[in-house]
Amino acid sequence: MMKKTAKLFIISGPSGVGKSTVIHRALQNFTDFYFSVSATTRCARPGEKEGIDYFFIGKEEFEKGIQNQQFLEYTCYCENYYGTPRKAVEEHLNLGYNVLLDIEIEGASQVKQHMPDSVTVFIVPPDLQELERRLRSRGTDSEDKIAGRLARAKKEFEKAPDYDYLIINDNVENASQELTAIIQAEQFRYDCRKAVLEV
Ligand code: 5GP
Repeated sequence: MMKKTAKLFIISGPSGVGKSTVIHRALQNFTDFYFSVSATTRCARPGEKEGIDYFFIGKEEFEKGIQNQQFLEYTCYCENYYGTPRKAVEEHLNLGYNVLLDIEIEGASQVKQHMPDSVTVFIVPPDLQELERRLRSRGTDSEDKIAGRLARAKKEFEKAPDYDYLIINDNVENASQELTAIIQAEQFRYDCRKAVLEV
């Protein structure tokens, strides 16, 4: 097999933009990817599964994890902690797997500082009205929570220019094809393939 360097992809975008669907459709096109499952203190939504969507843990356990440096990055988002378990990410990168993180802007900026070669992608909805409609149609959040997530979305949009790529999710199929194209192109970069020339 051709030797190549594993890459870290960071995907951000406001809650409700449809990131999970876009990411999971795109990743079906690849066999060498590890999707990082985050830990969170928020409650599971109907249909979400432990260890697949998130590791749902308590505040105390999360704070112990922070102290023990178990997170590659973490943040407090709409009153809950979210963090990327460090060990799984590092192990998969060392094994040569590409790794994908679905994290918000503050965590993304922490990771980019430590790992400047990571590739960052920002996903936006066609407009804020559409985002509000999608958040409501989920039917899982109170009015207060929806308002909090919309306010946070406005703050997140300001960080979009810091990202390498922008995807507008007005159609899930197109958006996942765009993410697939980004991932493929990144793997053709010289840096990613140069190991093949090293003897
Ligand atoms: P949700 O509650 O809608 O699943 O996620 C809220 C936000 O937290 C999303 O923007 C999601 O990308 C982000 N998020 C999920 N896991 C992590 C994580 O491990 N770290 C950070 N910084 N953000 C995360």
